Amino acid sequence: MSLADRLAEVDGRIADAARAVGRDPSELTRIVVTKFHPASLVDELYGLGVRDVGENRQQELSRKVGEIGDSPGLRWHFIGQAQTNKARAIRSAASVVHSLDRARLADALHGAAEPGDPALDVLLQVNLTDDPGRGGVDPDQVVSLAEHVAALSSLRVRGVMAVAPLDEPPAPAFARLRGCSEALRSVVPAASWISAGMTADFAEAIAAGATHLRIGSAITGPRPERG
Ligand SMILES: *Cc1c(COP(=O)(O)O)cnc(C)c1O
Repeated sequence: MSLADRLAEVDGRIADAARAVGRDPSELTRIVVTKFHPASLVDELYGLGVRDVGENRQQELSRKVGEIGDSPGLRWHFIGQAQTNKARAIRSAASVVHSLDRARLADALHGAAEPGDPALDVLLQVNLTDDPGRGGVDPDQVVSLAEHVAALSSLRVRGVMAVAPLDEPPAPAFARLRGCSEALRSVVPAASWISAGMTADFAEAIAAGATHLRIGSAITGPRPERG
């Protein structure tokens, strides 16, 4: 199957999953995760109409943004763990940061804003596992993190993000994420985005209310070995 065929096939499955739960597929943003693939893949996807791509490592993101250059309408979503000392680089490369999970990182992203920068869209990443080593804020800390980030004028809180745990079916985990989304909206009412759903679990994520899907291998094919 060609890249165009895989993209069309996944988009068809997304639309079917949405209609199956009474949702309009046009409410969903499908982000193609291009990590470990060359920048030329982003160019190919752009030619196929893709405008949202995701990367999980800052250096790879910055390199590809430089290689691709000006592509009107292309949005880079940063979905990986972020180090505070990379805040300026992330800020200048990404349109959206999905992985904001601590106050110190919010402060660093805010401190990296330069005069005239547009507000940076951020999502609060929630840890749905019991393992504190996984990225994400504890579900019961979502409100306090939201209050902190909402006070930083150069960041715009848009919603929540999570990766489903490996040792549990995705549906109950995504239901907890939806609860976190409701808690966030008690602080920031407009923050309605829910970033959830990957190749293996996007149908469950759509059923649980996801608005932004992060899909890699089903569209790109297997990832090359990481370099
Ligand atoms: C790699 C990655 C994805 C995409 O994973 P696939 O299983 O290839 O669809 C989504 N979200 C995050 C945070 C990732 O790191």
